[in-house]
Amino acid sequence: METVPTISENIARVEERIAAACRRSGRRREDVKLVAISKTHPAEAICAAFAAGLRDFGENRVQEAQAKLPALADLRATWHLVGHLQTNKARAARETFHWVHSVDSLRLAEKLAQAAPPGGACLPVLIEVNLGEEAAKAGVRAAEVQELAEQIGRIEALELRGLMVIPPFLASPEEVRPYFRQLRDLARKIEARHLPNVSMQELSMGMSHDYEVAIEEGATIVRVGTAIFGERQTQ
Ligand SMILES: *Cc1c(COP(=O)(O)O)cnc(C)c1O
Repeated sequence: METVPTISENIARVEERIAAACRRSGRRREDVKLVAISKTHPAEAICAAFAAGLRDFGENRVQEAQAKLPALADLRATWHLVGHLQTNKARAARETFHWVHSVDSLRLAEKLAQAAPPGGACLPVLIEVNLGEEAAKAGVRAAEVQELAEQIGRIEALELRGLMVIPPFLASPEEVRPYFRQLRDLARKIEARHLPNVSMQELSMGMSHDYEVAIEEGATIVRVGTAIFGERQTQ
């Protein structure tokens, strides 16, 4: 049997590569947040990653996260929702997650705001952008981002922090680079408008096969699943 690297070995490797990408692009390691995407993996795997030092975890489905969370209640982790969210699950998402990366409509933003606990803290959110304009993918088109950002800026219970992208799947990370650049340029353009309560500080971009390129292009959050937890059996 071939030996499978442990989760802590995987994390050490990912950390090395993040550090190298930061050095290459003159960035500081602390300016890039590693979010471990644990979908399809059991709570034990998340515990192992926590023990190896990770504190940010991401899931793409509310129900799956809710099923795992009781076993992880003692971990002081930050939970990120990175998958598409239906408006009827906004309340459950709000109860489960500290960040939502996948806001793609005003209606969803309003539902998340309505679900805010009284006197609760603002929910940090990102707008998901569909840069490839792929019909099957969630996210708003680049041309619609500014208007949605303005609208979310008016919602008190939400704190708009930036943009998120899942680029089209392309075999070579170099082919993905232009999408990361586009997201960064779009964020800069919107930042330059100085819209009230709109920050474009965070760029959530880069997954297992392209996070290094994403960091070179300015990612502040990388979402890494397979490179930490191994291949997913089902999805
Ligand atoms: C699954 C997933 C990831 C992680 O993908 P890997 O290729 O396994 O690193 C990142 N972002 C989102 C939105 C995902 O659904």
